[in-house]
Amino acid sequence: MSTSSSSIAKQVHAFGNTAATQPLQQLNINRRNPTPHDVEIEILFCGVCHSDLHTAKNEWHNTVYPCVPGHEIVGRIVTVGNHVKKFRVGDLAAVGCMVDSCRECDYCKEGLEQYCEPGMTGTYNAPDKHLNTHTFGGYSESIVVDESFVLRVPENLDPAATAPLLCAGITTYSPLKHWNVGKGKKVGIVGIGGLGHMAVKLAKAMGAEVIVFTTSPSKFEDARRLGADDVVLSKDEKQMRRYARKLHFVLDAVSAQHDINAYLNLLRVDGSLALVGAPELPLPVAAFSLIPKRRSFAGSMIGGIAETQEMLDFCGRHNIVSDIELINIGQINEAYDRLLKGDVKYRFVIDMASIKK
Ligand code: NAP
Ligand code: ZN
Ligand code: ZN
Repeated sequence: MSTSSSSIAKQVHAFGNTAATQPLQQLNINRRNPTPHDVEIEILFCGVCHSDLHTAKNEWHNTVYPCVPGHEIVGRIVTVGNHVKKFRVGDLAAVGCMVDSCRECDYCKEGLEQYCEPGMTGTYNAPDKHLNTHTFGGYSESIVVDESFVLRVPENLDPAATAPLLCAGITTYSPLKHWNVGKGKKVGIVGIGGLGHMAVKLAKAMGAEVIVFTTSPSKFEDARRLGADDVVLSKDEKQMRRYARKLHFVLDAVSAQHDINAYLNLLRVDGSLALVGAPELPLPVAAFSLIPKRRSFAGSMIGGIAETQEMLDFCGRHNIVSDIELINIGQINEAYDRLLKGDVKYRFVIDMASIKK
């Protein structure tokens, strides 16, 4: 990996893969030296998002190798550039799915950096503006990020269980807010994985009536503990009929192929279904799942930086964190296998101290 003339880099340990069919293994990557607006963060914890797996296995057909995933990062600031205002050395800090954007387009000016017109810079698998390479994520010892894309972590929250808020938290908080979920609204959450279980906690804290739709009978008890008012086994048509045309909003966080029409049919007149799950293949929509009830089928991607801070502060006030299983980096390939089977309650988080030799 070469370095541009303006940025001298240092090598750090990371975990990633060199081809879709290869397992993740230890490799070295370059991190730039902090510029005046940058902070250097020693990574303490990194959550394991299903997008990490989609990307490492090139399921979205856009992966550049070597691939170092990880965009749910919590760490300690170890260096600050001369012009950094928000952070001091020693502060706890977090980085989510973006590390930069154009900062000039209409969307960036509105705080919607995730929809940046020329394209935001993803924390991994995006062209790196500083080094002559692509970006590498949080499965690594440290990361250097412009302070504008670094978040403050509420002090009352457990740092390991906070990491998943940086993707699973904001990706569900943003659409719940956008579609006005709150008191008096009946909301369906589909797929109780990393994203879905956060959606249940957040929608409940916003005051909504929350119905969980799961393919896993083993998650029934948990769904209620997480805050669901009712749980439906989505494979059972009779149970599904209980909520036909009853819901104001449905958030779909499923990572694989499924029948979207079954969930559109749960919506009332003018109801919306927002997709946050990103399966590899298209999901066919029947015209008559939408037309007769003026329903909307939408999508939503993560959230802006200011909204991510708002979500973290909301979680701080409501004492909301992710349910996690802490793993060492050496267990990451096994964790991916288990993620594919839906065998995680409800987010793997890597203890990054385990990467140091
Ligand atoms: P996850 O932890 O693996 O959860 C996915 C859940 O989907 C599973 O727990 C399971 O829930 C359900 N599911 C899995 N396979 C299924 C199948 N064949 N049929 C029906 N349901 C199935 O994944 P995650 O990290 O929460 O991510 C979920 C999706 O969101 C991924 O596609 C990810 O890439 C995407 N994502 C999108 C954004 C965004 O900005 N829009 C951000 C992050 C992630 P049950 O057991 O309850 O059925
Ligand atoms: Zn993610
Ligand atoms: Zn922009």
